[in-house]
Amino acid sequence: MLSCSQTLDALHTEMRACRRCLEAGFSITPGAIFSGPASARVMIVGQAPGVTEVEAQRPFNASSGRRLFQWLAEAGWDEDEFRLTQYMTAITKCYPGKSPGGKGDRAPSRAEQKLCAPFLERELAQVAPEIIIPVGGLAIRRFLGKVKLADAVGTAAQDNADRWIVPLPHPSGASLWLNKPENQVLIQRAIEHLRRLNRSLR
Ligand code: SF4
Repeated sequence: MLSCSQTLDALHTEMRACRRCLEAGFSITPGAIFSGPASARVMIVGQAPGVTEVEAQRPFNASSGRRLFQWLAEAGWDEDEFRLTQYMTAITKCYPGKSPGGKGDRAPSRAEQKLCAPFLERELAQVAPEIIIPVGGLAIRRFLGKVKLADAVGTAAQDNADRWIVPLPHPSGASLWLNKPENQVLIQRAIEHLRRLNRSLR
C-alpha cells in the first residue's frame, strides 16, 4: 500500500505534467505551481500563480507573497518554516498569462477552474488540512459560495468536514480594497483568528 506522501508525490507528478487547459485551447503556461508536504496542517489556496511564481517555481513568491507572509508572521508563522511544513496551492495551478487589456494577469475562466478542480479535491483529500486559508475572491467562493469579500474576511468557521476556513483578501499591492481602513480592521480580525488557530496546532 502507498503511504500518504507517496500518493501525494504521484498527484504532484500528474499535476506537473498536466496540459488539460492548453489542450482545451487556453493560453496558459503549463507547469503547475504548488508546494508542501502531506503532513501539512494548513493549506493556503490562491487564485492562480503569476509569472514570478513560475520563474521561482514557488507559490506567492513576489510582492503579494511579501504581504501574505507579513500577515502570517503576525499570526505567528515564520515564512521559511511555513513554506517547508504547510501546503500552498491554487484554484488553477498554471500561469494564465496577462489579461487581454494588459493590466495584471488574466483570471482563469470557469472552464479552466472546472478542468483543474479535481486536482484541488485530491490535494484536500490527501493533505487533509485542519485550517484552510482561501486567498482572494475566487478561492473564497470555492469554500464559502457567493459572498462579498467584506462579509468573508474577518470570519472563521468550521465547514462540514471540521476544517477551519479563514479567508484573506488577495494581497496584491494593486488592490485598493486593502487600503480602506474598514477593510484593514477585517484583515486584523482574520489575523487574530489565525493566531488563535496557530496556537491550537501546537
Ligand atoms: S491549470 Fe490545472 S487543469 Fe489546467 S493545465 Fe494546469 S494543472 Fe492542468
